[in-house]
Amino acid sequence: MRISIERRAVRRVWIKVHPNGQVVVVASPRYALRTLQRLIERHREWIERQRARYRGMERISLAPGEMLYRGRVYRFVLRPRLGASVLLYPHRRIIASGENLLAPLLQRQWYVWEAERLVRRRARHLARRYGFTFTRIEIRDYTSAWGYCSPEGVITFDWRIAKVPPSVMDYLILHELVHTKIPNHGPRFWRKLEALYPAYREAVAWLNSYGRWL
Ligand SMILES: [Zn+2]
Repeated sequence: MRISIERRAVRRVWIKVHPNGQVVVVASPRYALRTLQRLIERHREWIERQRARYRGMERISLAPGEMLYRGRVYRFVLRPRLGASVLLYPHRRIIASGENLLAPLLQRQWYVWEAERLVRRRARHLARRYGFTFTRIEIRDYTSAWGYCSPEGVITFDWRIAKVPPSVMDYLILHELVHTKIPNHGPRFWRKLEALYPAYREAVAWLNSYGRWL
């Protein structure tokens, strides 16, 4: 079990277990490493229980030939006459193209392209509606985080955002838009986010349950 120790000015010692199995101990510098090790030893059973709970969490299962798009499972159909064009049939849950989008590299390219289209449109809309401004949106390969907002107002998202349901995408966009005004995750940040998106905890729970399988 790998444990990261975060030294911060907190009064109590916190042990956190993340959905990916990582264990983080938050403690002020005045706690010696040996004291923390003893504490971890004493809570080992609880830590293992949390990790087991996360391991048992439902994952989105895709059969061969299926793709996840906006939180729904689609079947991919190869239609050579379409060439590089991609057709989406949301009602029949079919994605068709002349290029084989089941090939990992092509698939990722398509997701990046879709994420750019979907996120830019939605971010512009939400920013206008709630009075935020940003410089531009970029899509990258992140894996460690869903989004990032630079001090210059450049908002970056991981391309997997094209796989999450629209409501979760809204949460991720609003999260970064709020960061254009409040850079940290303090109480003011969460109050503002909750005012704009009261059900944000559901989106966070979705990401905690499924996010790491995308
Ligand atoms: Zn944030």
